[in-house]
Amino acid sequence: MTQELIDTVPMLRQGRSLVVAIDGPSGSGKSSVSREVARRLRLAYLDTGAMYRALTWFCLDLGVDLKDAAAIEQAAEELPLEVSTSPQEDFVRVGGVDVTQAIREPEISSAVSAVATTLGARQELIRRQRGLIEKHHRRIVVEGRDITTVVVPGAEVRMLLTASEEARLRRRGIQLGGTQNAEQLAAQVTQRDAKDSTVVNFTKAADGVVTLDSSDLDFDGTVDAALGIVSRIINRD
Ligand code: C5P
Repeated sequence: MTQELIDTVPMLRQGRSLVVAIDGPSGSGKSSVSREVARRLRLAYLDTGAMYRALTWFCLDLGVDLKDAAAIEQAAEELPLEVSTSPQEDFVRVGGVDVTQAIREPEISSAVSAVATTLGARQELIRRQRGLIEKHHRRIVVEGRDITTVVVPGAEVRMLLTASEEARLRRRGIQLGGTQNAEQLAAQVTQRDAKDSTVVNFTKAADGVVTLDSSDLDFDGTVDAALGIVSRIINRD
């Protein structure tokens, strides 16, 4: 992207709503790309996956049986959650406890789908996500699995960030510090996506959602492509 275009990006729809909804599977680079897009566009940023992870941490902390949907739903309603909505900061707190690191542990990653497939819990987290979007006057990048389709289908920009399975596994390996073997990694990533996709379809773009395939792009290339999509859609309106 040219410097000129980057400089015009922060001016997009100034004083008006600009919701950039980004969905995609794990390992697509969604979080880091979405955060950088928010930073460059001077928008707020919401990682909805962190909310599902925080709820999972809370359930495990309370000793909730993850097969008990009613108990998970109740935990969702009571969840004392604070989550950063700034791309410059990364924190998640539950009842004042900093769980920013803890929610990235494998124990949470392998339990999160059980929580996220509980429909009552989803309803509650979606309600909170919509509240946070309004709080930021609808100037925000929101990323997850069901943002373009369920949480804000009316978003000005709707994007599905995909990557080949090979690329996703490679990235996850780097992210987890390379301490896990290939088999463990593959099981983690593909099993979680398979479980998640039982309630939300995030592998195929819905109507009006632009697909960005990052398999052959590096981080900067993906950010540039995402910003290019935003500019194109906004300038067309
Ligand atoms: O994006 P991340 O990998 O942190 O998401 C963790 C989990 O949260 C996903 O595997 C999925 O189960 C759940 N999730 C969801 N809907 C969203 C965001 C995340 O179900 N919008």
